Formats: sequence, structure tokens, C-alpha cells
Amino acid sequence: MKQPNYRTPGSGAVSFAAQYAKGMIRAQALPVIVQLMAGELHDQSDKRIKRCNYCGYWWRDDSLRNTKRTCSPECKTKVKSLQQAERRADHALLNPKPKKPSHLEQYYVWWIEYPFWIDDYQMLKHTWKYESMKSNAKIEHIEAAKKRGEAMGGRKKPNYQVPYGGGEKDDQAVKLHKVSLRLPKSDRESGEVKSFNIDNVNAYLREKYSEEKLQLEAKRAKRQRDFKWLQ
Ligand SMILES: [Zn+2]
Repeated sequence: MKQPNYRTPGSGAVSFAAQYAKGMIRAQALPVIVQLMAGELHDQSDKRIKRCNYCGYWWRDDSLRNTKRTCSPECKTKVKSLQQAERRADHALLNPKPKKPSHLEQYYVWWIEYPFWIDDYQMLKHTWKYESMKSNAKIEHIEAAKKRGEAMGGRKKPNYQVPYGGGEKDDQAVKLHKVSLRLPKSDRESGEVKSFNIDNVNAYLREKYSEEKLQLEAKRAKRQRDFKWLQ
């Protein structure tokens, strides 16, 4: 037989069980209650004795037509609210609330080849995070830094050596700091040292640094000069 789903017993179930455990102490009553719960104590022929639909314990229906399904008014209320919750859950499952479209779905036509925004305000609200506006000077500054980096050979990967074998630091990558230089043995004399001059310094500097950087350096130099005069 399927084990009933027991909940806190209602007053009907409690008074039904009480007549079997009258005058007993807790230790004596316990085995009696276990037997009672298994349905072995009561009169099987009495059709009025049944399990409560809510709390799951045995009780006796004293109503005129023997049509009650719960042992007590409180069990009746609880079983009703339980059924109502089930009905509500079923209804929500069958008629889900329509999902509110996001602002992006509502105002951005992304599904065509050249997407566009329908609303200016919504566009600004979204794009300020990804496409921040910068002044021309700032952009120039960034470009100059990029150019300088490329001229110096870009970003170089550090030289790592992974040691193998039974060393203690086997799992550690050791950074190499040593630079080995092998000079070929030769009788030849070293060549002439070549040097070059920058003909137009201003043009060179303008190519190498941004306008803002040059202005900043000019200001700094002027300040330093003035400072020296003061002393
Ligand atoms: Zn009950």
C-alpha cells in the first residue's frame, strides 16, 4: 500500500488517536500510535474510519452522510488552499505571461544587413557604454602611442623556459634574464662607425609624437627654465 503523505495532524485525527492512547505515558503510547498509523488497531468494517485527505492520519467521520474528506475544519481550509495553488500553477503553465521585449529588441533593428536605431534617446542610452566619445586630441594621443609602439617592434613575448626533469621547481616557468652573446673569431678590423643626422628636427618630432604631447613638453621645458631663473 502506498505510504500516505503525512502532515501536521488535524484535531479530528488527534482525538481519534487519543482514545487508543488514553492514560498512557509517552513511551507506552508510541508503539500504539505506530500500530494505529499502520491501520492495524481500528475496526476495519467501520466505513466511517478513513484517512484525512490533508494530514493523512486516520479519523472517524461522524457526519450524517459520511461524505467528509478531511478530519477537521483546519484541514479542510488547508486542502482547499492547496488545490487552489495547484489550479493557479496549472493556469500559469498553460497561459504564460507574454515576455516584455527588451529595449534592444524594441528600438534596434538588428536583423537586417545595416542595422539601425528607431529611437535616438534609446541609442544613446545603450551605446555610451561601448562607443564612448573622445576629443580629437585624445584620439591623436592614442594613435601616436600606437605608432610609437609599432616603431619599437610591437609587444614582445617574454622569454620563458619550462624546465623538465625531476627538479623541485618543475612546474614553475623560469624567466630568463641571461643574454648570451657569441662573438665570431676573426682577424678583421671593425668597420667604420656610421652616424646620421636629423635634418629637420621639428618634422621628425611631429611625426613621432602627437601635437598634444609636443605642446605639453614645450610647456614643461618653459616652466623648468622659468624655475631656474627664479633661483
Ligand atoms: Zn486532517
